Amino acid sequence: MEDLTDPKVLEKLADEHGTPLFIIDMEKIRQNYYLFERLFPRVQVYYAVKSNSDPGIVKTLFNLGSRFDVASLAEFNLVYEHIKDYTLEEQKAYIWDKIIYANTIKRVDTLHILNKYEPLVTYDNAEELKKIKAHCPDAGVVLRVKVPDTGSMVPLSSKFGAHPGEAVDLILAAAELGLTVEGLSFHVGSQCVNNENFVQALQICHELFEEADSRGIDSLRLLDIGGGFPVEYTPEVHPIEQLAEIINSELDRLFPAETAIIAEPGRFISATAGIVVTKILGKAVREGKTCYYLDDGIYHTFSGVIFDHQNYVLKSIKQGEPKICAVFGPTCDSLDTISLAENLPEELELEDYLYAENIGSYSHASSTWFNGFPPATVLRVNE
Ligand SMILES: *Cc1c(COP(=O)(O)O)cnc(C)c1O
Repeated sequence: MEDLTDPKVLEKLADEHGTPLFIIDMEKIRQNYYLFERLFPRVQVYYAVKSNSDPGIVKTLFNLGSRFDVASLAEFNLVYEHIKDYTLEEQKAYIWDKIIYANTIKRVDTLHILNKYEPLVTYDNAEELKKIKAHCPDAGVVLRVKVPDTGSMVPLSSKFGAHPGEAVDLILAAAELGLTVEGLSFHVGSQCVNNENFVQALQICHELFEEADSRGIDSLRLLDIGGGFPVEYTPEVHPIEQLAEIINSELDRLFPAETAIIAEPGRFISATAGIVVTKILGKAVREGKTCYYLDDGIYHTFSGVIFDHQNYVLKSIKQGEPKICAVFGPTCDSLDTISLAENLPEELELEDYLYAENIGSYSHASSTWFNGFPPATVLRVNE
């Protein structure tokens, strides 16, 4: 077992494999999965592949019996890879039981391909329903509802979700087209540090279940509470146990035991499983401040600085008195700035290593090849 909390181990791996090196700890993936299951005993785990689509993570979770939230054909295929030798009947049973296609806006060609598996897909508008009816009529559908996302690091409600006031009409519209609405879903926004968002979302869905019932719809059997489960990047984040207690008691209060409850954690499973090791390519002093230029940056593993609103903490393997430094990526774009105020020793030299922990989500997945610099090499450990 590799102990990635030991900087000497990181140094050894970087010497062996080169940098930038994106290390994924599969033991951590397994621990996070089991922790989520233990915290939310009533909830089925659908890993949101979007957060880190590494095939090794998918394989590890597949072997644990995890379910999956996919949002594109490529993500679907990462899971399908493991069931490609099943018979079509077995594939259909697996896909129905274990995959939700949770992008409310889908490509027509993707719908065509998926139809033969009779998948479970989400929608949040009437145009999408027509598209599903025309191109994937054998799908089961789940209506995504807009819920509060106040205080979440990455809000999602401006882009997705039917307003609760339109929800029952959209359920009736599906029924009129002959599509079966299996349930409701929501997403409170990613890295949701405001527990109240979940409380309100569950209340909204409870009321919609009742309203649908009163309008004669009896097909709703599933509630998808989405992602958003926060990671303790900083000590201010409430421990997840508090959120679990609130969600579990609200679920029991508002939804009968027959309602299947599913969740789509992404960050919660993958964030703490990723570490990046990068090396110093250049060093300059500009206006009195030491500037380090690294072989990884915001077009690569540190893309979460932009897309995920993150401040990763850089640590050096070499010890020294920390001073405020600037840290840049390797490309010729000045946007490629990891931090203008990082605490690092001033006496670091070219070729020294730096590393960042808790960088497993929304990082390598959105790496580019900009300026001719390829994404970091991926190293899976503790498989
Ligand atoms: C991104 C996303 C998730 C995962 O969210 P996390 O905050 O990483 O848990 C889950 N469901 C949907 C529909 C998403 O778009």
